[in-house]
Amino acid sequence: MKKAVFIDKDGTLIQNIPYNVNTTRISLLPTVGPSLRRLKDAGYLLILVTNQAGVAYGYFKEAMLIHVFNRINQLLSEENVMIDGFYYCPHHPDARIGAYKKKCNCRKPGPGMLTDAAANYGIDLKGSWMIGDILDDVEAGNKCGCRSILVDNGNETEWLLDHWRQPTLIVSSFDEAASFILKNK
Ligand SMILES: [Mg+2]
Ligand SMILES: [Zn+2]
Repeated sequence: MKKAVFIDKDGTLIQNIPYNVNTTRISLLPTVGPSLRRLKDAGYLLILVTNQAGVAYGYFKEAMLIHVFNRINQLLSEENVMIDGFYYCPHHPDARIGAYKKKCNCRKPGPGMLTDAAANYGIDLKGSWMIGDILDDVEAGNKCGCRSILVDNGNETEWLLDHWRQPTLIVSSFDEAASFILKNK
């Protein structure tokens, strides 16, 4: 079975601009490219998992997301690495667009995107990791048996820490997260 690193998008992989789907405004955060390359070289699948409630709210069409994901891989390819799989949740319980209004299992902190990817790729979740910038990311990873790393860049503001929301490690950069994973395989 393969191991994976699941990665949140906004504020973890790319600069956080809420509900942005304008590809010209997408930029990778520092150290992300070389760090992903190191993880890839160590054999990890790289799987992006992102909540996209902007679809549910009607801020942009679901079809826009493919352009966002393509742009991310275009930027990463300049660093000689690519994301292997893109998973997103377009739902929200308070959606304005009826088709997306539901309390789903895929919206983080739910584990649905990670378990779907695990089924599709044959991923060993116990040997896998979740990296994100808020505790909802941590909980999604922990809930399906992964270890989890919080990149604390100030985006988590509530710090509601219960059993499921305890990260394995808190770091201040993506680079540190990758190094820890490679030391703790
Ligand atoms: Mg985020
Ligand atoms: Zn969902």
